[in-house]
Amino acid sequence: MSTPSLDFDPSNVSLPQGHFIGGTSYYSTNEASIAVYRPSDGQLLGYIPDASPDTIDHAVSNALQAWKTSRWATQPPRERAKVLTRWAELIDRNAVSLAQLEAVSSTRPVAEAYASDVPFTADAIRFFAELADKHGGDFAATRRESLGFVASEPYGVIGAITPWNFPLSMCSWKCGPALAAGNAVVLKPSELTPFSTLRLAELAIEAGIPPGIFNVVNGRGATTGAAITRHPDISKISFTGSTRTGAAIMSDAALHGTKPVTLELGGKSPQLVFERVPDLAHAAQCIARGFTSNGGQACVAGTRLIAHKRIVEPLLEAVQGHLANIAPGPLWRSTTSYSPLISQNQAERIAALIDASRASGAEVIFGGGYFEDTDGGYFHRPTLLANVTESTPAVRQELFGPVLTVQTFEDEDEGIALAGHPTYGLCAGIHTRDIGQAMRAMRRISAGTVWINRYGRSGDMIIPTGGFKQSGIGKDLGRQALEASMRYKSVLIDFDRT
Ligand code: NDP
Repeated sequence: MSTPSLDFDPSNVSLPQGHFIGGTSYYSTNEASIAVYRPSDGQLLGYIPDASPDTIDHAVSNALQAWKTSRWATQPPRERAKVLTRWAELIDRNAVSLAQLEAVSSTRPVAEAYASDVPFTADAIRFFAELADKHGGDFAATRRESLGFVASEPYGVIGAITPWNFPLSMCSWKCGPALAAGNAVVLKPSELTPFSTLRLAELAIEAGIPPGIFNVVNGRGATTGAAITRHPDISKISFTGSTRTGAAIMSDAALHGTKPVTLELGGKSPQLVFERVPDLAHAAQCIARGFTSNGGQACVAGTRLIAHKRIVEPLLEAVQGHLANIAPGPLWRSTTSYSPLISQNQAERIAALIDASRASGAEVIFGGGYFEDTDGGYFHRPTLLANVTESTPAVRQELFGPVLTVQTFEDEDEGIALAGHPTYGLCAGIHTRDIGQAMRAMRRISAGTVWINRYGRSGDMIIPTGGFKQSGIGKDLGRQALEASMRYKSVLIDFDRT
Protein backbone atom coordinates (compact mmCIF):
# COMPACT_ATOMS: atom_id res chain seq x y z
CA MET A 1 0.00 0.00 0.00
CA SER A 2 1.43 3.39 -0.94
CA THR A 3 1.81 6.09 1.71
CA PRO A 4 -0.84 8.78 1.27
CA SER A 5 0.25 12.35 0.76
CA LEU A 6 0.51 13.83 4.22
CA ASP A 7 1.08 17.50 3.40
CA PHE A 8 -1.95 19.51 4.38
CA ASP A 9 -3.30 23.00 4.81
CA PRO A 10 -3.59 23.66 8.56
CA SER A 11 -6.55 25.98 8.09
CA ASN A 12 -8.59 23.09 6.66
CA VAL A 13 -8.40 20.81 9.69
CA SER A 14 -11.68 20.43 11.51
CA LEU A 15 -11.31 20.46 15.28
CA PRO A 16 -13.50 18.56 17.74
CA GLN A 17 -15.30 20.95 20.09
CA GLY A 18 -16.29 21.09 23.76
CA HIS A 19 -15.80 18.30 26.25
CA PHE A 20 -16.72 14.67 25.54
CA ILE A 21 -19.08 13.32 28.20
CA GLY A 22 -21.62 10.51 28.17
CA GLY A 23 -20.73 9.50 24.62
CA THR A 24 -21.14 12.88 22.97
CA SER A 25 -19.72 16.39 22.74
CA TYR A 26 -20.75 18.37 25.79
CA TYR A 27 -21.06 22.14 26.21
CA SER A 28 -21.97 24.23 29.19
CA THR A 29 -22.99 27.86 28.76
CA ASN A 30 -21.21 29.28 31.78
CA GLU A 31 -17.62 28.29 31.00
CA ALA A 32 -14.68 30.47 30.01
CA SER A 33 -12.73 29.60 26.85
CA ILE A 34 -9.07 28.69 26.61
CA ALA A 35 -7.25 29.67 23.41
CA VAL A 36 -5.12 26.95 21.78
CA TYR A 37 -2.21 27.89 19.49
CA ARG A 38 -0.31 26.07 16.73
CA PRO A 39 3.23 25.37 17.97
CA SER A 40 4.60 25.54 14.40
CA ASP A 41 3.85 29.23 13.94
CA GLY A 42 2.12 30.47 17.08
CA GLN A 43 -1.15 31.14 15.20
CA LEU A 44 -4.44 30.80 17.03
CA LEU A 45 -5.87 27.35 16.33
CA GLY A 46 -9.13 27.30 18.25
CA TYR A 47 -10.73 27.32 21.68
CA ILE A 48 -11.67 24.76 24.28
CA PRO A 49 -13.92 25.27 27.28
CA ASP A 50 -12.43 25.54 30.76
CA ALA A 51 -14.47 23.03 32.75
CA SER A 52 -16.61 24.38 35.56
CA PRO A 53 -16.94 22.32 38.75
CA ASP A 54 -20.44 21.32 37.51
CA THR A 55 -18.99 19.94 34.28
CA ILE A 56 -16.42 17.88 36.19
CA ASP A 57 -19.18 16.50 38.44
CA HIS A 58 -21.28 15.77 35.36
CA ALA A 59 -18.40 13.83 33.75
CA VAL A 60 -17.63 11.81 36.86
CA SER A 61 -21.26 10.99 37.59
CA ASN A 62 -21.74 9.91 33.95
CA ALA A 63 -18.69 7.70 34.23
CA LEU A 64 -19.82 6.15 37.51
CA GLN A 65 -23.35 5.63 36.24
CA ALA A 66 -22.11 4.01 33.02
CA TRP A 67 -19.71 1.84 34.97
CA LYS A 68 -22.52 0.63 37.25
CA THR A 69 -25.23 0.19 34.64
CA SER A 70 -23.52 -0.77 31.37
CA ARG A 71 -22.03 -4.24 30.96
CA TRP A 72 -18.52 -2.82 30.58
CA ALA A 73 -17.22 -4.03 33.93
CA THR A 74 -19.26 -7.21 34.26
CA GLN A 75 -19.06 -8.78 30.80
CA PRO A 76 -16.40 -11.38 30.06
CA PRO A 77 -13.07 -9.59 29.43
CA ARG A 78 -12.96 -11.22 25.98
CA GLU A 79 -16.03 -9.15 25.00
CA ARG A 80 -14.37 -5.95 26.17
CA ALA A 81 -11.32 -6.97 24.19
CA LYS A 82 -13.37 -7.18 20.98
CA VAL A 83 -14.61 -3.61 21.43
CA LEU A 84 -11.13 -2.31 22.23
CA THR A 85 -9.76 -4.10 19.16
CA ARG A 86 -12.40 -2.35 17.02
CA TRP A 87 -11.26 0.96 18.53
CA ALA A 88 -7.67 0.19 17.54
CA GLU A 89 -8.82 -0.67 14.00
CA LEU A 90 -10.71 2.61 13.72
CA ILE A 91 -7.60 4.48 14.87
CA ASP A 92 -5.60 2.75 12.13
CA ARG A 93 -8.27 3.53 9.56
CA ASN A 94 -8.26 7.22 10.54
CA ALA A 95 -4.47 7.44 10.58
CA VAL A 96 -4.18 10.34 8.15
CA SER A 97 -6.73 12.60 9.82
CA LEU A 98 -5.42 11.76 13.31
CA ALA A 99 -1.83 12.47 12.23
CA GLN A 100 -2.91 15.80 10.75
CA LEU A 101 -4.81 16.74 13.88
CA GLU A 102 -1.78 15.87 16.00
CA ALA A 103 0.55 17.83 13.72
CA VAL A 104 -1.55 20.97 13.69
CA SER A 105 -2.04 21.11 17.43
CA SER A 106 1.01 19.53 19.07
CA THR A 107 4.77 19.38 18.42
CA ARG A 108 4.61 16.16 16.37
CA PRO A 109 5.61 16.38 12.68
CA VAL A 110 2.88 14.91 10.47
CA ALA A 111 5.12 12.21 8.94
CA GLU A 112 6.23 10.99 12.39
CA ALA A 113 2.71 11.18 13.78
CA TYR A 114 1.53 9.03 10.87
CA ALA A 115 4.43 6.55 10.96
CA SER A 116 4.82 6.27 14.75
CA ASP A 117 2.32 7.99 17.02
CA VAL A 118 -0.88 6.74 15.41
CA PRO A 119 0.20 3.09 14.95
CA PHE A 120 1.73 3.07 18.46
CA THR A 121 -1.56 4.39 19.85
CA ALA A 122 -3.54 1.67 18.08
CA ASP A 123 -1.00 -0.98 19.08
CA ALA A 124 -1.10 0.02 22.76
CA ILE A 125 -4.89 -0.36 22.80
CA ARG A 126 -4.64 -3.65 20.89
CA PHE A 127 -2.01 -4.92 23.35
CA PHE A 128 -4.24 -4.28 26.38
CA ALA A 129 -7.23 -5.79 24.55
CA GLU A 130 -5.17 -8.94 23.99
CA LEU A 131 -4.14 -8.98 27.64
CA ALA A 132 -7.65 -8.42 29.02
CA ASP A 133 -8.40 -12.12 29.61
CA LYS A 134 -4.86 -13.31 30.20
CA HIS A 135 -4.46 -12.57 33.84
CA GLY A 136 -6.05 -14.25 36.80
CA GLY A 137 -5.99 -14.15 40.55
CA ASP A 138 -3.79 -16.42 42.66
CA PHE A 139 -4.91 -19.46 44.60
CA ALA A 140 -3.60 -19.48 48.13
CA ALA A 141 -1.94 -22.30 50.01
CA THR A 142 -4.29 -22.78 52.92
CA ARG A 143 -5.82 -25.57 55.00
CA ARG A 144 -7.27 -28.48 53.07
CA GLU A 145 -10.91 -27.65 53.81
CA SER A 146 -10.56 -24.02 52.73
CA LEU A 147 -10.19 -22.39 49.38
CA GLY A 148 -8.28 -19.11 49.32
CA PHE A 149 -7.95 -16.99 46.22
CA VAL A 150 -7.31 -13.46 45.08
CA ALA A 151 -9.96 -11.95 42.82
CA SER A 152 -9.09 -8.94 40.68
CA GLU A 153 -11.67 -6.20 40.13
CA PRO A 154 -11.71 -2.86 38.35
CA TYR A 155 -11.51 0.23 40.58
CA GLY A 156 -14.55 1.99 39.10
CA VAL A 157 -13.70 5.40 37.67
CA ILE A 158 -10.04 6.17 36.99
CA GLY A 159 -8.88 9.77 36.54
CA ALA A 160 -6.21 10.24 33.86
CA ILE A 161 -4.19 13.42 33.31
CA THR A 162 -1.96 13.59 30.24
CA PRO A 163 0.75 16.00 29.05
CA TRP A 164 1.23 17.81 25.77
CA ASN A 165 4.28 16.06 24.33
CA PHE A 166 2.69 12.91 22.84
CA PRO A 167 -1.07 13.44 23.23
CA LEU A 168 -2.29 10.42 21.23
CA SER A 169 0.13 7.87 22.70
CA MET A 170 -0.31 9.17 26.23
CA CYS A 171 -4.08 8.79 25.94
CA SER A 172 -3.69 5.15 24.84
CA TRP A 173 -1.15 4.38 27.57
CA LYS A 174 -3.62 5.57 30.21
CA CYS A 175 -6.93 4.39 28.70
CA GLY A 176 -5.74 1.07 27.27
CA PRO A 177 -5.09 -0.68 30.60
CA ALA A 178 -7.81 1.16 32.51
CA LEU A 179 -10.54 0.21 30.02
CA ALA A 180 -9.25 -3.32 29.42
CA ALA A 181 -9.48 -3.90 33.18
CA GLY A 182 -13.15 -2.84 33.12
CA ASN A 183 -12.90 0.68 34.52
CA ALA A 184 -14.50 3.90 33.30
CA VAL A 185 -12.16 6.84 32.62
CA VAL A 186 -12.35 10.61 32.99
CA LEU A 187 -9.33 12.06 31.20
CA LYS A 188 -8.01 15.60 31.10
CA PRO A 189 -5.59 16.24 28.23
CA SER A 190 -3.19 19.14 28.44
CA GLU A 191 -4.92 22.42 27.72
CA LEU A 192 -2.21 23.00 25.09
CA THR A 193 -3.04 19.89 23.02
CA PRO A 194 -6.62 18.73 23.59
CA PHE A 195 -7.96 17.98 20.09
CA SER A 196 -6.58 14.55 19.13
CA THR A 197 -7.74 13.12 22.47
CA LEU A 198 -11.28 14.36 21.77
CA ARG A 199 -11.15 12.61 18.38
CA LEU A 200 -10.04 9.35 20.04
CA ALA A 201 -13.07 9.59 22.31
CA GLU A 202 -15.38 9.96 19.29
CA LEU A 203 -13.81 6.87 17.74
CA ALA A 204 -14.22 4.96 21.02
CA ILE A 205 -17.97 5.45 20.81
CA GLU A 206 -17.99 4.39 17.16
CA ALA A 207 -16.15 1.22 18.23
CA GLY A 208 -18.86 0.38 20.75
CA ILE A 209 -17.42 1.53 24.06
CA PRO A 210 -20.58 2.36 26.04
CA PRO A 211 -21.39 6.08 26.41
CA GLY A 212 -19.94 7.42 29.66
CA ILE A 213 -17.17 4.84 29.93
CA PHE A 214 -14.58 7.16 28.36
CA ASN A 215 -14.96 10.89 28.99
CA VAL A 216 -12.69 13.82 28.16
CA VAL A 217 -12.85 17.01 30.20
CA ASN A 218 -10.96 20.11 29.08
CA GLY A 219 -9.55 22.66 31.43
CA ARG A 220 -6.50 23.94 33.23
CA GLY A 221 -4.29 21.65 35.28
CA ALA A 222 -4.38 23.59 38.52
CA THR A 223 -8.21 23.64 38.55
CA THR A 224 -9.66 20.85 36.39
CA GLY A 225 -6.73 18.46 36.93
CA ALA A 226 -6.83 19.04 40.67
CA ALA A 227 -10.63 18.65 40.78
CA ILE A 228 -10.38 15.27 39.02
CA THR A 229 -7.73 14.12 41.50
CA ARG A 230 -9.81 15.24 44.47
CA HIS A 231 -13.18 13.99 43.26
CA PRO A 232 -14.66 11.52 45.77
CA ASP A 233 -15.99 9.21 43.02
CA ILE A 234 -12.62 8.82 41.31
CA SER A 235 -10.79 5.86 42.78
CA LYS A 236 -7.36 5.98 41.15
CA ILE A 237 -5.20 8.54 39.32
CA SER A 238 -2.83 7.94 36.45
CA PHE A 239 -0.68 10.93 35.49
CA THR A 240 2.18 11.77 33.17
CA GLY A 241 3.96 15.11 33.46
CA SER A 242 6.42 17.03 35.59
CA THR A 243 7.79 15.79 38.90
CA ARG A 244 6.44 18.92 40.59
CA THR A 245 2.88 18.38 39.41
CA GLY A 246 3.20 14.65 40.14
CA ALA A 247 4.05 15.47 43.74
CA ALA A 248 1.04 17.82 44.00
CA ILE A 249 -1.22 15.09 42.59
CA MET A 250 0.19 12.49 44.98
CA SER A 251 -0.44 14.73 47.93
CA ASP A 252 -3.99 15.60 46.72
CA ALA A 253 -4.73 11.91 46.14
CA ALA A 254 -3.52 11.09 49.65
CA LEU A 255 -5.65 13.80 51.24
CA HIS A 256 -8.80 13.11 49.21
CA GLY A 257 -9.51 9.43 49.57
CA THR A 258 -6.10 7.81 49.94
CA LYS A 259 -6.17 6.98 46.23
CA PRO A 260 -3.45 5.01 44.51
CA VAL A 261 -1.47 6.89 41.86
CA THR A 262 0.59 5.90 38.85
CA LEU A 263 3.03 8.70 38.10
CA GLU A 264 5.24 8.87 35.01
CA LEU A 265 7.40 11.92 35.68
CA GLY A 266 10.50 13.74 34.54
CA GLY A 267 13.96 12.48 33.68
CA LYS A 268 17.55 13.55 33.12
CA SER A 269 18.73 10.41 31.44
CA PRO A 270 22.39 9.60 30.69
CA GLN A 271 23.93 8.10 27.57
CA LEU A 272 27.01 6.36 28.95
CA VAL A 273 29.56 5.61 26.20
CA PHE A 274 32.49 3.41 27.17
CA GLU A 275 35.80 3.27 25.33
CA ARG A 276 34.91 -0.10 23.79
CA VAL A 277 31.82 1.24 22.05
CA PRO A 278 30.78 -1.36 19.45
CA ASP A 279 29.83 1.09 16.70
CA LEU A 280 30.69 4.73 17.25
CA ALA A 281 28.59 5.95 14.32
CA HIS A 282 25.53 4.12 15.64
CA ALA A 283 26.10 5.46 19.17
CA ALA A 284 26.39 8.99 17.75
CA GLN A 285 23.08 8.56 15.96
CA CYS A 286 21.41 7.29 19.16
CA ILE A 287 22.80 10.27 21.06
CA ALA A 288 21.73 12.86 18.46
CA ARG A 289 18.22 11.38 18.18
CA GLY A 290 17.99 10.77 21.91
CA PHE A 291 18.02 14.45 22.81
CA THR A 292 16.51 16.09 19.70
CA SER A 293 13.52 13.87 19.04
CA ASN A 294 10.31 15.90 19.50
CA GLY A 295 12.56 18.93 20.10
CA GLY A 296 13.88 17.28 23.28
CA GLN A 297 10.36 17.30 24.75
CA ALA A 298 10.26 13.70 25.89
CA CYS A 299 10.53 12.40 29.44
CA VAL A 300 12.93 9.72 28.18
CA ALA A 301 15.21 12.17 26.32
CA GLY A 302 18.88 11.24 26.74
CA THR A 303 20.15 14.66 27.77
CA ARG A 304 23.44 13.86 29.54
CA LEU A 305 26.31 12.45 27.50
CA ILE A 306 28.88 10.70 29.71
CA ALA A 307 31.69 9.68 27.35
CA HIS A 308 35.08 8.04 27.86
CA LYS A 309 37.89 10.57 27.41
CA ARG A 310 39.56 8.57 24.63
CA ILE A 311 36.53 8.51 22.34
CA VAL A 312 34.78 11.76 23.22
CA GLU A 313 36.27 13.78 20.34
CA PRO A 314 35.33 11.50 17.43
CA LEU A 315 32.00 10.83 19.11
CA LEU A 316 31.14 14.53 19.37
CA GLU A 317 32.24 15.07 15.80
CA ALA A 318 29.87 12.34 14.64
CA VAL A 319 27.02 13.68 16.82
CA GLN A 320 27.53 17.17 15.38
CA GLY A 321 27.40 15.67 11.88
CA HIS A 322 23.83 14.53 12.59
CA LEU A 323 22.86 17.82 14.23
CA ALA A 324 24.12 19.89 11.31
CA ASN A 325 21.40 18.38 9.08
CA ILE A 326 18.54 19.29 11.38
CA ALA A 327 16.22 21.94 9.96
CA PRO A 328 12.94 23.37 11.18
CA GLY A 329 9.75 23.46 9.15
CA PRO A 330 5.99 23.56 9.55
CA LEU A 331 4.70 20.36 11.08
CA TRP A 332 2.10 20.01 8.31
CA ARG A 333 4.83 19.47 5.71
CA SER A 334 5.72 15.79 5.35
CA THR A 335 9.44 16.53 4.96
CA THR A 336 9.67 18.20 8.40
CA SER A 337 11.21 16.03 11.09
CA TYR A 338 12.24 18.59 13.73
CA SER A 339 9.81 19.89 16.34
CA PRO A 340 9.30 23.36 17.77
CA LEU A 341 8.94 23.94 21.49
CA ILE A 342 5.34 23.74 22.61
CA SER A 343 5.01 27.33 23.84
CA GLN A 344 6.66 30.60 24.69
CA ASN A 345 6.53 29.60 28.37
CA GLN A 346 8.59 26.54 27.59
CA ALA A 347 11.05 28.65 25.56
CA GLU A 348 11.50 31.01 28.52
CA ARG A 349 12.10 28.11 30.95
CA ILE A 350 14.79 26.67 28.70
CA ALA A 351 16.49 30.03 28.14
CA ALA A 352 16.58 30.61 31.91
CA LEU A 353 18.15 27.19 32.55
CA ILE A 354 20.79 27.68 29.85
CA ASP A 355 21.62 31.17 31.18
CA ALA A 356 21.93 29.81 34.71
CA SER A 357 24.17 27.00 33.44
CA ARG A 358 26.42 29.44 31.57
CA ALA A 359 26.63 31.65 34.65
CA SER A 360 27.94 28.61 36.53
CA GLY A 361 30.69 27.99 33.95
CA ALA A 362 29.02 25.90 31.20
CA GLU A 363 30.07 26.61 27.63
CA VAL A 364 27.91 26.27 24.51
CA ILE A 365 30.11 24.27 22.11
CA PHE A 366 27.44 23.74 19.43
CA GLY A 367 24.13 25.43 18.56
CA GLY A 368 22.46 27.72 21.05
CA GLY A 369 19.49 30.02 20.45
CA TYR A 370 16.73 29.66 17.89
CA PHE A 371 16.50 28.98 14.17
CA GLU A 372 15.53 32.11 12.28
CA ASP A 373 12.79 32.50 9.62
CA THR A 374 10.43 30.02 11.20
CA ASP A 375 7.13 31.92 10.89
CA GLY A 376 6.83 32.36 14.63
CA GLY A 377 7.46 28.84 16.04
CA TYR A 378 10.09 28.38 18.78
CA PHE A 379 12.52 26.01 17.05
CA HIS A 380 15.46 25.77 19.44
CA ARG A 381 18.77 24.79 17.83
CA PRO A 382 20.20 21.48 19.02
CA THR A 383 22.72 22.61 21.63
CA LEU A 384 25.75 21.02 23.28
CA LEU A 385 26.91 22.28 26.68
CA ALA A 386 30.41 21.41 27.92
CA ASN A 387 32.37 22.42 31.05
CA VAL A 388 29.52 21.17 33.19
CA THR A 389 29.58 19.51 36.60
CA GLU A 390 27.03 17.64 38.66
CA SER A 391 25.83 20.96 40.08
CA THR A 392 25.25 22.72 36.73
CA PRO A 393 21.50 23.54 36.48
CA ALA A 394 21.25 21.87 33.02
CA VAL A 395 22.68 18.67 34.52
CA ARG A 396 20.51 18.69 37.62
CA GLN A 397 17.13 19.78 36.23
CA GLU A 398 14.91 18.50 33.46
CA LEU A 399 15.12 21.04 30.65
CA PHE A 400 12.67 19.59 28.11
CA GLY A 401 14.45 21.07 25.12
CA PRO A 402 17.13 19.91 22.66
CA VAL A 403 20.11 20.44 24.97
CA LEU A 404 22.80 17.84 25.69
CA THR A 405 25.38 18.26 28.44
CA VAL A 406 28.78 16.62 27.93
CA GLN A 407 30.87 15.04 30.71
CA THR A 408 33.86 12.73 30.39
CA PHE A 409 35.38 9.95 32.49
CA GLU A 410 38.51 7.79 32.59
CA ASP A 411 37.47 4.56 34.28
CA GLU A 412 34.35 2.42 34.59
CA ASP A 413 33.52 3.37 38.17
CA GLU A 414 33.77 7.05 37.43
CA GLY A 415 31.54 6.71 34.33
CA ILE A 416 28.87 4.74 36.17
CA ALA A 417 28.93 7.19 39.09
CA LEU A 418 28.46 10.14 36.72
CA ALA A 419 25.61 8.36 34.92
CA GLY A 420 23.61 8.11 38.16
CA HIS A 421 21.52 11.14 39.02
CA PRO A 422 20.72 12.41 42.51
CA THR A 423 16.98 12.87 41.87
CA TYR A 424 15.88 11.34 38.56
CA GLY A 425 15.94 7.68 37.48
CA LEU A 426 13.84 7.27 34.37
CA CYS A 427 16.13 5.75 31.70
CA ALA A 428 19.76 5.20 30.82
CA GLY A 429 21.61 4.32 27.62
CA ILE A 430 24.81 2.24 27.84
CA HIS A 431 27.10 1.76 24.85
CA THR A 432 29.79 -0.91 25.15
CA ARG A 433 30.74 -4.18 23.47
CA ASP A 434 31.82 -5.60 26.86
CA ILE A 435 28.72 -7.42 28.11
CA GLY A 436 30.13 -7.69 31.64
CA GLN A 437 30.68 -3.95 31.73
CA ALA A 438 27.16 -3.36 30.37
CA MET A 439 25.66 -5.61 33.07
CA ARG A 440 27.67 -3.99 35.87
CA ALA A 441 26.53 -0.55 34.72
CA MET A 442 22.93 -1.73 34.29
CA ARG A 443 22.86 -3.05 37.87
CA ARG A 444 24.41 0.06 39.41
CA ILE A 445 22.46 2.78 37.58
CA SER A 446 19.19 3.47 39.35
CA ALA A 447 16.77 3.81 36.44
CA GLY A 448 13.45 2.25 35.46
CA THR A 449 14.63 1.46 31.91
CA VAL A 450 18.11 0.67 30.62
CA TRP A 451 18.89 0.50 26.91
CA ILE A 452 22.10 -1.21 25.87
CA ASN A 453 23.61 -0.33 22.48
CA ARG A 454 20.39 1.42 21.51
CA TYR A 455 18.39 4.37 22.80
CA GLY A 456 14.61 4.61 22.87
CA ARG A 457 11.57 2.41 23.15
CA SER A 458 10.75 -0.28 20.64
CA GLY A 459 7.18 -1.06 19.60
CA ASP A 460 7.10 -3.90 22.16
CA MET A 461 4.22 -2.94 24.39
CA ILE A 462 5.01 -5.79 26.79
CA ILE A 463 8.02 -3.78 28.02
CA PRO A 464 6.76 -1.39 30.69
CA THR A 465 7.97 2.15 31.14
CA GLY A 466 8.26 4.13 34.35
CA GLY A 467 10.85 5.65 36.60
CA PHE A 468 12.67 5.23 39.87
CA LYS A 469 13.19 7.96 42.47
CA GLN A 470 11.56 11.27 41.49
CA SER A 471 10.91 9.99 37.98
CA GLY A 472 7.75 8.31 39.15
CA ILE A 473 5.80 5.49 40.70
CA GLY A 474 4.46 2.46 38.85
CA LYS A 475 4.55 1.64 35.16
CA ASP A 476 2.76 2.49 31.96
CA LEU A 477 2.47 -0.30 29.37
CA GLY A 478 3.35 -3.93 30.01
CA ARG A 479 1.45 -6.37 32.17
CA GLN A 480 2.18 -4.10 35.11
CA ALA A 481 -0.08 -1.31 33.79
CA LEU A 482 -3.05 -3.67 33.53
CA GLU A 483 -2.39 -5.06 37.00
CA ALA A 484 -2.22 -1.53 38.42
CA SER A 485 -5.63 -0.78 36.92
CA MET A 486 -7.25 -3.36 39.18
CA ARG A 487 -7.61 -3.91 42.88
CA TYR A 488 -7.31 -7.28 44.52
CA LYS A 489 -9.80 -8.92 46.84
CA SER A 490 -8.68 -11.80 49.06
CA VAL A 491 -11.30 -14.52 49.44
CA LEU A 492 -11.26 -17.43 51.88
CA ILE A 493 -14.03 -20.05 51.85
CA ASP A 494 -14.34 -22.74 54.50
CA PHE A 495 -16.16 -25.25 52.35
CA ASP A 496 -16.61 -27.90 55.01
CA ARG A 497 -19.25 -25.59 56.51
CA THR A 498 -21.21 -24.93 53.30
P1 NDP B 1 2.75 19.65 34.00
O1 NDP B 1 3.26 18.46 34.69
O2 NDP B 1 2.36 20.81 34.84
O3 NDP B 1 1.48 19.25 33.08
C1 NDP B 1 1.14 17.95 32.72
C2 NDP B 1 -0.37 17.74 32.87
O4 NDP B 1 -0.76 17.94 34.22
C3 NDP B 1 -1.21 18.72 32.06
O5 NDP B 1 -2.39 18.10 31.60
C4 NDP B 1 -1.50 19.78 33.08
O6 NDP B 1 -2.62 20.54 32.72
C5 NDP B 1 -1.78 18.93 34.31
N1 NDP B 1 -1.67 19.62 35.60
C6 NDP B 1 -0.95 20.73 35.90
N2 NDP B 1 -1.10 21.04 37.22
C7 NDP B 1 -1.92 20.10 37.75
C8 NDP B 1 -2.45 19.87 39.07
N3 NDP B 1 -2.16 20.64 40.12
N4 NDP B 1 -3.27 18.79 39.27
C9 NDP B 1 -3.57 17.97 38.24
N5 NDP B 1 -3.11 18.16 36.97
C10 NDP B 1 -2.29 19.20 36.73
O7 NDP B 1 3.83 20.08 32.93
P2 NDP B 1 3.99 21.44 32.12
O8 NDP B 1 3.11 21.37 30.94
O9 NDP B 1 3.81 22.63 33.01
O10 NDP B 1 5.54 21.37 31.69
C11 NDP B 1 6.54 21.75 32.62
C12 NDP B 1 7.66 20.74 32.66
O11 NDP B 1 7.13 19.47 33.01
C13 NDP B 1 8.34 20.49 31.34
O12 NDP B 1 9.31 21.45 31.09
C14 NDP B 1 8.94 19.14 31.58
O13 NDP B 1 10.13 19.29 32.31
C15 NDP B 1 7.91 18.44 32.44
N6 NDP B 1 7.03 17.55 31.65
C16 NDP B 1 7.30 16.22 31.68
C17 NDP B 1 6.54 15.36 30.92
C18 NDP B 1 6.81 13.89 30.89
O14 NDP B 1 6.52 13.24 29.88
N7 NDP B 1 7.29 13.29 31.97
C19 NDP B 1 5.47 15.83 30.04
C20 NDP B 1 5.22 17.25 30.13
C21 NDP B 1 6.01 18.06 30.92
P3 NDP B 1 -2.45 21.90 31.86
O15 NDP B 1 -1.60 21.61 30.68
O16 NDP B 1 -3.85 22.17 31.49
O17 NDP B 1 -1.83 22.87 32.80
